[in-house]
Amino acid sequence: MDISSTSQGYPLSLCLDGRRVVVVGAGAVAVRHVAGLRAAGADVLVIAPRLSASLADLAARGLIKVRQGNYRAGDLDGAWLVLACASQAAVNSAVTADSEKLRLWCVRGDGGEAPAWVPAVGRAGGVTVAVSAGRDGRRAAAVRDACLAAAAGIRDGLPLRKDVAAGGGRSHGEAARGTGRVSIVGGGPGDPGLITVAGLERLRQADVVVADRLIASELLARLPDDVHVIDAAKVPGGPAMRQEDINAVLIQHALEGRAVVRLKGGDPYVFGRGREEVDACLAAGIPVDTVPGVTSAVAVPAAAGIPVTHRGMTQGFSVVSGHVSPADPRSTVNWRALARGGTTLVLLMAVEHVAEIAAELIAAGLTAGTPSACVADGWTPQQRAVAAPLRELARAMRTAKLRNPAVIVIGETAGYCSPATAGTRLPLRALVPARPAPPGKDFS
Ligand code: SAH
Repeated sequence: MDISSTSQGYPLSLCLDGRRVVVVGAGAVAVRHVAGLRAAGADVLVIAPRLSASLADLAARGLIKVRQGNYRAGDLDGAWLVLACASQAAVNSAVTADSEKLRLWCVRGDGGEAPAWVPAVGRAGGVTVAVSAGRDGRRAAAVRDACLAAAAGIRDGLPLRKDVAAGGGRSHGEAARGTGRVSIVGGGPGDPGLITVAGLERLRQADVVVADRLIASELLARLPDDVHVIDAAKVPGGPAMRQEDINAVLIQHALEGRAVVRLKGGDPYVFGRGREEVDACLAAGIPVDTVPGVTSAVAVPAAAGIPVTHRGMTQGFSVVSGHVSPADPRSTVNWRALARGGTTLVLLMAVEHVAEIAAELIAAGLTAGTPSACVADGWTPQQRAVAAPLRELARAMRTAKLRNPAVIVIGETAGYCSPATAGTRLPLRALVPARPAPPGKDFS
């Protein structure tokens, strides 16, 4: 029986919740199947003489059961489904033959003949897509991805839209009162590819998006025309919308039944006032959730090849706002303690006060030659970086005319600062092979 030629199969979804599924074998194929089975809630029993590290870990945490040893008759007792994933074809054939006798559905991981097979599966927004393309797994995966993308565009089929519909069966834009919600979403820094999958999902479901200045504008450009975008960075008569006004807008749209996304740069809880917005929504009785984001504090240094921690170099990093000078009475940062803390210092919003901050750190005992770097417009085509010893950092930044938004890194790992190649999109942005940064180098 050749599954690709003799049968198109009968597509079926199984509820495996709590049901025993036996997986014979513990190599890479088994690991992938076990992941899918666990996600479906199956009671997984792995039979194998040796376990891969990840399966051994799952077993140690009690998340799967294991019988270590060679496959033998009787191993399939009590199973609802069998996956033959052994490295030896003869073992898989024996498992398949035994399953057949027991009238158990058996999947083979080695492409051999078997009565059942697993499609390429993807899930998003309550939609499950399963595609089979004979033996062409790559084609199946590509079709699955295309289907998922198409499903994401069908807004009225998604759960949030149903919620709105349930509140009065109205279409987009005339939603029912009292059924809306707010999602505070981290958009990541600079590149639209740095939003999370969950964040993108919220955007796809949004009726209203209230956006910050530092988010990747392409995220907005991709929204359907009927999504109402509110630019929280611009209001008549002021440079930025006041926080109370932003809260009021979120609440108002949610009360009118809309799915509101508050899209913020980086992570909403890192200098993002995310919790203030959550509190405002809760106080108004609005359901609210938070989708974390990739913070610039970690990702922007990484865009220039700088890790915020590095084995043997630094055992931690401290993220600090430099929006007020150390001498300013409003400053609550203990710069002196930070100077002696031994962690990488990551400064946000610090371009204006970098000279005073460097002087304060040096006065408190941090070596003036400590490697330092500044990365501006991280993950954008305009990204630029300079590296310099701490004592020269402010001057190097001035000379290079680096401006906000920028992240400053002070510590040994800043010595890794290196230019990025010309790529402006995530898959293209690679680092030039190791070239330690000479002091004062401008990588623009
Ligand atoms: N919530 C955000 C930080 C907001 S504070 C986050 O988690 O990333 C704003 C500061 O973040 C800026 O002044 C700058 O220091 C930093 N920043 C944000 N995006 C940046 C980018 N693309 N490049 C460089 N710095 C960035």
